[in-house]
Amino acid sequence: MNSASGKWEKRWHPLREEWVVYSAHRNTRPWHGAPPVESQPMPAYDPTCYLCPGNKRVNHQSNPHYSDIFIFENDLPVVSFSAPDIPVEQTIGLYRKARATGVAKVICYDPRHNVTLAQMKQDAVYKVFRAFRQEMTELSKIPEIRYVHIFENKGQAVGVSNPHPHCQLYATDFVFKFVEQQLAVAEKYRSNHQRNIYEDIIRQEQLDEIRIISENEYAISFLPFFARYAYETLIFPKKHHASLITLTDYELEGLTAVFHETVRKMDMNFNTDFPYVMSVMQAPVDGLSYPEFRMHLWLQPPYRQPGLIKYLAGPEIGGGNFMADTMPEDKAAELRAQDAKKYPFEK
Ligand SMILES: [Zn+2]
Repeated sequence: MNSASGKWEKRWHPLREEWVVYSAHRNTRPWHGAPPVESQPMPAYDPTCYLCPGNKRVNHQSNPHYSDIFIFENDLPVVSFSAPDIPVEQTIGLYRKARATGVAKVICYDPRHNVTLAQMKQDAVYKVFRAFRQEMTELSKIPEIRYVHIFENKGQAVGVSNPHPHCQLYATDFVFKFVEQQLAVAEKYRSNHQRNIYEDIIRQEQLDEIRIISENEYAISFLPFFARYAYETLIFPKKHHASLITLTDYELEGLTAVFHETVRKMDMNFNTDFPYVMSVMQAPVDGLSYPEFRMHLWLQPPYRQPGLIKYLAGPEIGGGNFMADTMPEDKAAELRAQDAKKYPFEK
């Protein structure tokens, strides 16, 4: 057998319908764990932060002295009902343009400037997830809104300038690309196999077991067989839900627990605030039903080793396919080895 066996192969990404190439045989550095990271201690309150309680924002309004979660409409929104008016979609040859309609909000998780979801207590994280569900319920009632994208960019490594714990939400009159793609792929899978694609992925991960990071009665997280980023993780409620709106409190609490354990393990594995882009993947909220789509949380951390970012380059930017130099099983094993009950960074 070739010594690179199991370390050098391509794998099919069923949700994106594309190949991911793994070449971990080139990555000779063995994993010995991450050295402690000396990070600059941050204050719990930063007078220059536009998200801290009581501080002024760019529109000269002051934030309230909030005690847990604070949600407001972005002062410099990407999409808004007050965007320049283009009454009907305009077509110029093959080019089209329309109004950038929508709602853009900021959701602050905590009044403290220097905490993260991983560091916060699980009850507080559950409150944040309840706020997500509440926003979904409210925004889905606005007729013009077809889709809501909730996302958190965490850490300087993904370009965040303000460390205050927060995420953003874009509610739009169009459906974001990856959700649209997954909807089409899931429909096709149903007609080809008479099964749900997400159910089959979850079942396969449970059978293989070695890539599961956290699991309880209500939810499961795993570093999938087809991960593009070294520590990319999917988190699903175990019951079928197209969006957060239909999750019961028990299910939402279970999802919170699995998410919380997962991000704590990520912190522990690198001995640091582990950066990521988190996306809450949900079906459109346009009144139609999407029985094949299953909501999930999608974590895409940029690091592949301590201090080493996965930069997208020729194959990814220019060609559109990912080249990974680590195996999902190896990275999952690192996270599985962490005991989140011993998490040392709780605040
Ligand atoms: Zn702040």
